[in-house]
Amino acid sequence: MSYVAHVSPRNTPQTEPLFGQVKNSAGGYSYKLDQFAQLDRFLILGCEGGTYYASERKLAIENANIVLDCAKADPKRTVDRIVEISDSGRAIKNDPAIFALALLASNKRLDGNVKLAGDLALAAMPKVCRTGTHLFQFVEACNELRGWGRSLRTAVSNWYLAKSPDQLAMQVTKYAQRNGWSHRDVLRLCHANTKNRATQDVLQYVAQPDKWRAARRQSKNELLLAVEEAQNADSIKGLIKLIREHSLVREHIPPQYLSDPAVQEALLQHMPMTAMIRNLGGMTASGLLKPLSSAARGVCEKLRTESALKKARVHPFSVLLALKTYSQGCGFRGSLSWTPVPQIVDALNDAFYASFGMVEPTNKRWLLGIDVSGSMGAKINNTNVSCCEAAGVMAMVALRTEPQCYAHGFAGSFVDLGLRASMDLAAVARKLYMSNFGSTDCSLPMTYALQNRLEVDCFSVYTDNETYAGRQHPSGALREYREKMGIDAKLIVCGMTATGFSIADSNDLGMLDCVGFDANAPAVMAEFVRG
Ligand code: CA
Repeated sequence: MSYVAHVSPRNTPQTEPLFGQVKNSAGGYSYKLDQFAQLDRFLILGCEGGTYYASERKLAIENANIVLDCAKADPKRTVDRIVEISDSGRAIKNDPAIFALALLASNKRLDGNVKLAGDLALAAMPKVCRTGTHLFQFVEACNELRGWGRSLRTAVSNWYLAKSPDQLAMQVTKYAQRNGWSHRDVLRLCHANTKNRATQDVLQYVAQPDKWRAARRQSKNELLLAVEEAQNADSIKGLIKLIREHSLVREHIPPQYLSDPAVQEALLQHMPMTAMIRNLGGMTASGLLKPLSSAARGVCEKLRTESALKKARVHPFSVLLALKTYSQGCGFRGSLSWTPVPQIVDALNDAFYASFGMVEPTNKRWLLGIDVSGSMGAKINNTNVSCCEAAGVMAMVALRTEPQCYAHGFAGSFVDLGLRASMDLAAVARKLYMSNFGSTDCSLPMTYALQNRLEVDCFSVYTDNETYAGRQHPSGALREYREKMGIDAKLIVCGMTATGFSIADSNDLGMLDCVGFDANAPAVMAEFVRG
């Protein structure tokens, strides 16, 4: 009897562990996440800037170990997962995927699963490093972690040589350099070589620009020639003609022309979605985007095109960042200011929801619990968005989708946030920001529902899982709720930080841990609730 009492979830306070739990960073106890689930969290959320409790360095080392542990357990699954999350656009940033591949490619062990993971990582590199910038990040990491050997030289050479001359010309001109790395540096290290004349021409443009320029009349690469001409353009009219004829992008244009509304208008025609979203402020400041203008109408239409968002891998988090910045009417450093066009703010709100893809309502009864405790004030990936703001806007996705859905906040006690489906996202973020303080009791959504006899099919809790202040563990509170209400309620935990903790008990099939700002999260959650 006494053995059972010790491991029973009934009335075990959060300051003491349940069977299977580990100490979390707040001094309470949570469950330890499965290593592949933690890999997902790291790949999707990243850990730049750390969390409230753990430094970026500590989390980076912890997650690097997770990457290696996963590779030891199952190299193919690990590399496939990195590629899948990167390629599907589910991650906030591509950096963790690039780092994970570089880490696997850099292991010196010559045998077993780790070696296999390294080979798979190098082979998969072009799928994750889709732009020149990604390649620079990968090369920089490898240069630091392993140095140059034959396998890395071959993999990097192939990145260049597998592209058509036109694709390659776009890559080397659009992403010319980053963090002190240029394509010239990389080519010098990887010795890429080919017999294809057209590719040789692009490689020479990079490696021996003066020689290429001296003989440029022989080049047949229209893009390279157009970029050269644009760099030396002496009139806006000529520049606009080049932009229109060769689909030039911002990076091809001398900086002094970039704030010109006519140049911006020409660029806007073929502007990639991510660049458009990033430059809304600049295009409004110049007067190109103004109320009732056709440019603003076109931008709004594009922002609402779900297929275009998907194709460009626009992550909802990027839309949220753009929305916050654009609505406040000045840039991050405050050098530029503008009057936001209301229709564009509305379109950004719509784009946020559209970037999650279409989710069918489950028509179940949802109670959303948003952790607004002090630790949720930590910023996500060094941005100006905190975990609790992110949790609030994620809750909005469910509020807008599900007809029966009630959202509230909690810290050490219940917090009425007054969230409604019709609210503007910037207003939601402000509301969460204002309510962000206090201790943490993640069992509150369940105990509140039980006290008030609320009939709930699914509890969805958005948290960093650092719970410590409750007389009962969340999993215990859920079991008590199920018993007393006679409803086999489910619990979804949306983890908002890349740590190894979860309040969900993975041995209970009615509990699910998912990654908080995964672009796929709403679909995964709905699928789980449908059963
Ligand atoms: Ca907390």
